Amino acid sequence: MKSPLDKYKRIVVKVGSALLVDAENSCVKTQWLETLGKDFASLIAQDKEIIIVSSGTIALGRSAFDMPLTSLKLEEGQAAASIGQIILAGAWQSALNCANKHVGQVLITWNDTENRRRYLNVRNTIDTLLKYQAIPLINENDTVTTQEIRYGDNDRLAARIATMVNADALILLSDVDGLYTESPQKNPHAKHLDVIEEITPEIENMASGAASLYSRGGMATKVAAAKMATSGGIDMMIASGLVQHPLAKLGSEQKYTLFKSTVDHATARKSWLASHMDERGEIIIDAGASQALLTGSSLLAAGITHVEGEFERGDVVVIVNQEGMALAKGIVAYDYEDAQKIAGHRSEEFQDILGYPPRGAFIHRDDLVLLVASGATE
Ligand code: GLU
Repeated sequence: MKSPLDKYKRIVVKVGSALLVDAENSCVKTQWLETLGKDFASLIAQDKEIIIVSSGTIALGRSAFDMPLTSLKLEEGQAAASIGQIILAGAWQSALNCANKHVGQVLITWNDTENRRRYLNVRNTIDTLLKYQAIPLINENDTVTTQEIRYGDNDRLAARIATMVNADALILLSDVDGLYTESPQKNPHAKHLDVIEEITPEIENMASGAASLYSRGGMATKVAAAKMATSGGIDMMIASGLVQHPLAKLGSEQKYTLFKSTVDHATARKSWLASHMDERGEIIIDAGASQALLTGSSLLAAGITHVEGEFERGDVVVIVNQEGMALAKGIVAYDYEDAQKIAGHRSEEFQDILGYPPRGAFIHRDDLVLLVASGATE
């Protein structure tokens, strides 16, 4: 049977606390979670990659301490989260045992997504988990975050993760099945919106409304997430998780709202790079590497003749040919000191030179944007 997920390969699924936590007993809704685990297993069997962003740690942890549902002090919330993280990760692993899948927990803070060096680390960990066919399970590390430096809601965190890992789609599973012209609780005649081509101020107005008791986000953070995702080339859906097998039923038994991406992935990433102003260094390359670059290859250290600037891994640098012409910009996989050491060397030599194995290309082609038309140096 056809599913709206058929066309996507890498899918980030955000699961809200309201779905996961049994409000009466403050425990995980394990039976429901298993149905979602089975949906994931069948998507993975179709060669898709699943990344989970799951809320619920604070809601689960506070029950252990008999803490109130709302107005926790900072340190109470952090302590509750440390208890809840274990409960939540355990629940997800049990739910995915039937699918014979390992869950790899990745707890991140705001800095991990906004500092480029740490951003690359997070991305590499997620990519490696996926390579090993494990399922990354992501949440904000609420044990150490404070009010000033946190996402606070997992809707926007999930959108940020989706752009970081170049996902094709982001699904926010929630206790509502999409965006309505007005709050359906207040007006039963409110109309469900199936597809949103553009997030206009009118759409943003429709998204006003309170968050539920258990989740931090409301419709407003979902639309904010949609803006982040769609401008990064990622389609986003809001769908209800109040049913069993919510993903298997998507499109057939369950409606949803689709926010269509406005650009494709590569264009979004490349336009970000092209407009990036803060270049931290110059990489001067030989004629062979220039040719390779202009025909779409990654930049390898072997083709580098000289390195200038004091850049960190993850910084943007300019790539220049022997005549001093700026050919491209890209995100470096090595910092300045290591770059100097490996310039002109093949990756097989890196272990001896650096004391750690090669990270792949010096600048991967996905992290490169050409500043000249191909053939310009011929
Ligand atoms: N990170 C929070 C938690 O796990 C949830 C944030 C949200 O509800 O969006 O408790």
